[in-house]
Amino acid sequence: IFQLSLPLNFLGTIYREMRQNLLDMETLVTLVNTNTPIADPPNAKPLALAKGGSIKFENVHFGYHPDRPIFKGLNFEIPAGKRVAIVGPSGCGKSTVFRLLFRFYHPSSGTITIDGQDISAITLQSLRKSIGIVPQDTPLFHSTVLHNIRYGRLAATDEEVVEVAKKANVHDSIMRLPERYDTKVGERGLMISGGEKQRLAVARVLLKDPEILFFDEATSALDAHTESELLKSIHSTLLSPSHGKPRTSIFIAHRLRTVVESDLIIVLKDGQVVEQGTHEELLALDGLYRSMWVQQSSYGGEEAVVSETASEDGV
Ligand code: ATP
Repeated sequence: IFQLSLPLNFLGTIYREMRQNLLDMETLVTLVNTNTPIADPPNAKPLALAKGGSIKFENVHFGYHPDRPIFKGLNFEIPAGKRVAIVGPSGCGKSTVFRLLFRFYHPSSGTITIDGQDISAITLQSLRKSIGIVPQDTPLFHSTVLHNIRYGRLAATDEEVVEVAKKANVHDSIMRLPERYDTKVGERGLMISGGEKQRLAVARVLLKDPEILFFDEATSALDAHTESELLKSIHSTLLSPSHGKPRTSIFIAHRLRTVVESDLIIVLKDGQVVEQGTHEELLALDGLYRSMWVQQSSYGGEEAVVSETASEDGV
């Protein structure tokens, strides 16, 4: 009996660990605000990023509920390797763009392509592998800091984890934690600040090294100073030409100050693109972008966000 009880105990521990990981996975899925990811169609092919990750939405229709459409024919194009911002009033569908691209939901009609390949016909695994996200509120697993960063690429060595943590400017904060990289964080673990969480997300994405990067700017988790420091570290790491490949990056932005230097700014309103161009071009248009810019400047710049209305949902 004794001989049997040891392996059984061990199995029990593994079972509890697995259950916990599944629960954490569930939390992650809830946090990204979805039901079930869309499964692969038969004969799905892996995504081939021959042209570097250009993204096209063509006549996309979508609503979370059939009687409440969000997109009624959304069209835009994001060129490969460029830094693009999506802005617009709260609730206009900025985060929904990302959820459709990541295939958490499927458009009711229209197509979304990456380098000319319809994303509904490619494998989910290859799609998700090519896109990295730094979400508004980074979900952390109830596990060590080391594991939370390594989640970006499970095969990464401890040294590689430390290296990306340094690049993401989070290494010093980690070294101040009670058990450094072995400190347990996340639900039921040590709570860490919103800024540190987003830096962990940057480190995770650095390990993943995707061709397409999505950054969902926090509305309230970070103060303006922390946010601009974070953006600086993203630009000097993920988006710096010296850091490997050119990357298509999409910033969902609330503070217009953070998008001024974008190659392209897409302005959404009522589920449609109403204006697009560079910061200067949009100011010259004297339309919605300009009025949002003027409104934010009069609110005192950095602290102001596009709209005072809070969204019903998170990411
Ligand atoms: P914010 O700037 O406030 O973050 P957003 O532009 O990113 O907003 P989305 O989060 O894309 O807007 O939401 C678009 C619309 O869809 C909103 O009206 C929102 O309330 C609604 N919505 C978002 N997620 C869901 C969901 N899971 N079920 C039903 N409606 C949803």
